[in-house]
Amino acid sequence: MSADYQPVAQALAKHWPGVSLEVCDSLDSTNSELMRRARAGQVQPILLVARQQTAGRGRLGRQWLSGTGHTDSDVYGEGASLTFSLGLPLAPASWSGLSLAVGVSIAASLHAELRLKWPNDLWLHQRKLAGILIETTALDGRRYAIVGVGINLGARDDNGLARAPAWLGELLPGMDAPQTLLRIAAPLLQAIRDFELRGFAPFQPGFAQRDALMGEPLTLSDGTCGTAHGVNADGALLLRTPDGLKAITSSELSLRAVLAPQSGNTT
Ligand code: ATP
Repeated sequence: MSADYQPVAQALAKHWPGVSLEVCDSLDSTNSELMRRARAGQVQPILLVARQQTAGRGRLGRQWLSGTGHTDSDVYGEGASLTFSLGLPLAPASWSGLSLAVGVSIAASLHAELRLKWPNDLWLHQRKLAGILIETTALDGRRYAIVGVGINLGARDDNGLARAPAWLGELLPGMDAPQTLLRIAAPLLQAIRDFELRGFAPFQPGFAQRDALMGEPLTLSDGTCGTAHGVNADGALLLRTPDGLKAITSSELSLRAVLAPQSGNTT
């Protein structure tokens, strides 16, 4: 284990002794790597970090673009990011709202100004700072969950992105990838275990406090228009439409919020 991630390894050993930490210099995607390992029978709890991710993924086959997470002062800076995935067997009664619970935990660990955009993004001032991608695969009656997170740490431009991004350095200048992970990791594991036992409901107030879409006019990708009205106890997005309140659960739906115009490509 390289010295920069030692404090993370120590925190895991103290609070989550069953969870190993592995840091790779470069991977295509930490989610893809854990999925390959799970399919090959490696399903021990693990926190896998990639200092560099070459083919990060978002939802629906979209790309997550990231730089490196090195700590050297000449590398930390423009485009630097933290990319990691947690892999662990999980058996919640319902999976609904897990990405929201993960977002609540990470936002609470990092900064009060962070907001959550249903269903899987952390926003700062209406710009995307981080994305969450949760995938699962069958595991002897339970499932193996892979919770992937990508966070922009250093300034980056909007090349290749649908909207201008945000980065953590705007709020916490100089916080590098290991320091960021140290703040996030143990509370995130706790949040995932709490979710497994009690579902999304305990996270609902935390989400409501940080709900970036509350009151915003929205158009869903299926053409439905309405106004965001928070989320319910299952984590479904509530949309006020001319036909009444609709609970949106499908991850197939991509939101296009009618927010301040952004530079860069159209969405
Ligand atoms: P959208 O954010 O476009 O409404 P989404 O939240 O479902 O959709 P995800 O699948 O979570 O999107 O993430 C992929 C999208 O995030 C990409 O299409 C790209 O526009 C954007 N993106 C990719 N990398 C970054 C990054 N480093 N910082 C900010 N945004 C990024």
